[in-house]
Amino acid sequence: MNLADLSAENQRAIGFLARRRRGNFIRGAECAPADGAYLAVVDPATEMQVAEAPDSTAADVDAAVRSARATFEDSPWSRMRPADREAVLYRLSTLIEAHGDELSALETLQGGKLQGIARMVDVGAGAEFVRYMAGWATKLEGQTLQPSLGFPPGVQYHTWTRREALGVVGAVVPWNFPLAIALWKIAPALATGCTVVLKPSPETPLTALRLAELAVEAGLPAGALNVVCGGPAAGAALVAHPGIDKLSFTGSTATGKAIARSAADHLTRLTLELGGKSPLIVLEDADIDAAAAGAAMGIFFNQGQVCTAGSRLFVQRRIFEQVVQRLAHAAEGMKIGSGFDPTVQLGPLVSKRQMERVIGYVDGARSDGATVLTGGARVGEAGCFVRPTVLVDVTPRMRAVREEIFGPVVCAQPFDSVDEVVQMANDTPFGLAASVWSNNLSSVHRLVPLLKAGTVWINCHNMLDNNLPLGGFKQSGQGKDLGRAAVEACTELKSVCMAV
Ligand code: NAD
Repeated sequence: MNLADLSAENQRAIGFLARRRRGNFIRGAECAPADGAYLAVVDPATEMQVAEAPDSTAADVDAAVRSARATFEDSPWSRMRPADREAVLYRLSTLIEAHGDELSALETLQGGKLQGIARMVDVGAGAEFVRYMAGWATKLEGQTLQPSLGFPPGVQYHTWTRREALGVVGAVVPWNFPLAIALWKIAPALATGCTVVLKPSPETPLTALRLAELAVEAGLPAGALNVVCGGPAAGAALVAHPGIDKLSFTGSTATGKAIARSAADHLTRLTLELGGKSPLIVLEDADIDAAAAGAAMGIFFNQGQVCTAGSRLFVQRRIFEQVVQRLAHAAEGMKIGSGFDPTVQLGPLVSKRQMERVIGYVDGARSDGATVLTGGARVGEAGCFVRPTVLVDVTPRMRAVREEIFGPVVCAQPFDSVDEVVQMANDTPFGLAASVWSNNLSSVHRLVPLLKAGTVWINCHNMLDNNLPLGGFKQSGQGKDLGRAAVEACTELKSVCMAV
């Protein structure tokens, strides 16, 4: 679907692109990058350029960090009554919802995702998350503690803790849920009184830029939310900048490790949400239809470009064929096409590079001896479409089984016993999530503590709740997004000891 072919509603919605060349957003206003360099934003459904956004350098990052720092130190934002910060965030959530058509159309255009998914997750859940975090602004608390200090004799002490806003938070985010994940970083930071510099992914900068405009409209002081666009160099400059107090990152494990090394220089606080290779485990007593449908949703949702995707499917041997055949059948029935078409179930991958990477993994598995039960190829000649793919006859050492593919490709393996599947599921450097499909309470309770994963779902997969912390074990990350944990990670804990 060409841009000109979009519905009048979506055409109106993406009025933001009346100017195709967009700037960074610093000190409350759009500005051109210092070097005048831009990167193309490409619609992966058509492979046509739809916009340009800055390819920022260290100078742009420096301007954004200075803006955030000055706002944190000098503006009332960090000292504002918590109830007033709450009100601003609440207004922002309302504006995100009111601009849902526009924001979801921009997501579909730049990232290829289904507009319905963008509406539900990036806009709907994103706005709800901002509202949830608005509530936290008034609920931060310290503790009074009972001291045992006894010196000098006769002196009594009063001791307590307080939570204070960390300062400037840098946020570096990926392209799979651009608006939602940006909000996961921004909202808790703003709720505590911090200010933010956001660097979106070069593939998907448009909703971040629009969000910054809406934040000013909501009453956020100019400079409290700055957006610098660009690729790895801009991200690296932000991480290395001595003016940020915390860096919150979502992306691949390889980039997360580079960020941790760089952040060590200033001991910058870190939250790292990284990659996954999550197991989806089906025990023989499970509801077979529900498990097969859940496995399809677990891997094909958002074209498999989900950090918690159930990319390793383990099915107890007695029901292996039944589950895998149903899954293949579901894959073959999916309608593939533009994310703007409401009847489509699988859109394009985010870019040609990602499409080639995904197909490369399938080709590699095939030559290593895996069987492609269904899918495994590009659809058509134009657009970054890949058929939903089920691989069987895989072995634990194959790259397709070990590495994160980040596409609609699942590796299915049979197992015999619960002990065996625990060993298979944990045989990975990742530990982001897992799901167990079973109607046997004892098996479920036995498995939950044995799975080395930050989230375990039972009879569901990919279900996130604003109140439930999300973060990985092992090389899937450090710290948590969502929930109280995310707010507290934007604060320092100060201890106070007073001689009375
Ligand atoms: P990526 O690591 O390539 O890039 C993520 C972001 O980091 C982008 O904005 C990129 O420009 C920036 N970046 C790249 N190199 C950098 C560097 N050296 N220093 C600073 N910034 C740098 O990841 P991606 O391909 O955009 O996204 C996919 C990855 O994100 C997958 O691995 C996926 O699992 C992960 N992810 C994790 C979660 C989670 O919650 N754990 C959620 C979504 C996505």
